[in-house]
Amino acid sequence: MDRDALRRAFLTHLCQTSAEPIGLEVASAEGCTITDAAGRRYLDFISGIGVANVGHRHPAVLAAVRNQLDRYLHVMVYGEYLQTPQIELAAQLASIAPPPLSVTYLTNSGAEAVEGALKTARKYTGRSVFVAFDRSYHGDTFGALSVMGRPEWRAPYEPLLPAVRFLPWNEPAALDAPDGIDEQVAAVIMEPVQAEGGVRLPSDGFLRAVRARCTAVGALLLIDEVVTGFGRTGRLFAVEHWGVAPDIMILAKAMGGGLPLGGFLGRPDVMAVLARDPPLSHLTTFGGHPLSCAAGLASLRVILDQRLAKAADQTGQRLLDELKTRCGRGGLMTVRGLGLLIGMEFDTSISCERFVRRCRDAGLLLGWTLHEDRVVRLAPPLVLSAGEMEEGLERMTDALR
Ligand code: PMP
Repeated sequence: MDRDALRRAFLTHLCQTSAEPIGLEVASAEGCTITDAAGRRYLDFISGIGVANVGHRHPAVLAAVRNQLDRYLHVMVYGEYLQTPQIELAAQLASIAPPPLSVTYLTNSGAEAVEGALKTARKYTGRSVFVAFDRSYHGDTFGALSVMGRPEWRAPYEPLLPAVRFLPWNEPAALDAPDGIDEQVAAVIMEPVQAEGGVRLPSDGFLRAVRARCTAVGALLLIDEVVTGFGRTGRLFAVEHWGVAPDIMILAKAMGGGLPLGGFLGRPDVMAVLARDPPLSHLTTFGGHPLSCAAGLASLRVILDQRLAKAADQTGQRLLDELKTRCGRGGLMTVRGLGLLIGMEFDTSISCERFVRRCRDAGLLLGWTLHEDRVVRLAPPLVLSAGEMEEGLERMTDALR
């Protein structure tokens, strides 16, 4: 197909989900750079929205995929055969997750991992109510959408799961108020940092307060680390910042090193319910695909060996400090973040959009946040070099003029 035909077919035959897709025609990607069909190079400060933590096409990931390609692809539905990449990945996760989380169910995506975690919580507790937070995002399948903290997003698809309670973010007093977290609640689901909610950080004691309340009433705490996991916030998992251990941790995005992979990782006694009453009641054909697991394991080893969480902490802090000094220019009001997950808040959605467009025109890719149209999100690969950081900063500074 020539390039015009390709663009027409994109708009006609690929289901469109936005009135104005970015429309970048990708030719290749490597490290922190994406090259388009015209040969133009873009510095990628969004990483496919938090996926390319080790950069695009990391050599260790490619080698692991090639090696697995020569052995086997899909051989059986989930959980029946011994497949080395799945087992090694699950064992590696158990060695780095906050104890007592040590058993993983592998999926293809974040939303599927959320679904599985919600089902597991219901089955384990025998309760039906879920608690989520305003401005949360957990995926777009029916269960995940039911715990999405933005009514406009839920409305076109209702009725969804009944009995979901939404609590305000960072308000500990709401946790034990009526219709808060009580003995009817199967689980509380939350992101440690709300990414789509506008990069909203929890106040210092908030996660611990949620943990304490869940423990007090016997509700499970499901922490969604889909965005924040695998070093993004400067720790391997964001819960480590606050010393909180969830009952189930939900993972995806960077987990597969660029291939589709998700999972939920829980306490052994909690995860054990999936094997009984009835058995085989939570199945997947492709979840934990051997290619994805091989890629994921290679990517995780790079994150650990190269101490990329620490790198994210240091590079993120420098970037945050620099960006803060640009506040007041081009409508930029505040900058906040944790590690290499940074939100830049503008005075209006127009200045926000203009900034993103100018950056793109200058060869720098940034992201948006779904629930806050005044917030730009930065989530570059954790392997971002000092030179690349400076280059990105320079382009952002120009765009703010
Ligand atoms: N949880 C969070 C916090 C997310 O940001 C996302 C995706 N943006 C999901 C879950 C859903 O993941 P997926 O798109 O892989 O289904």
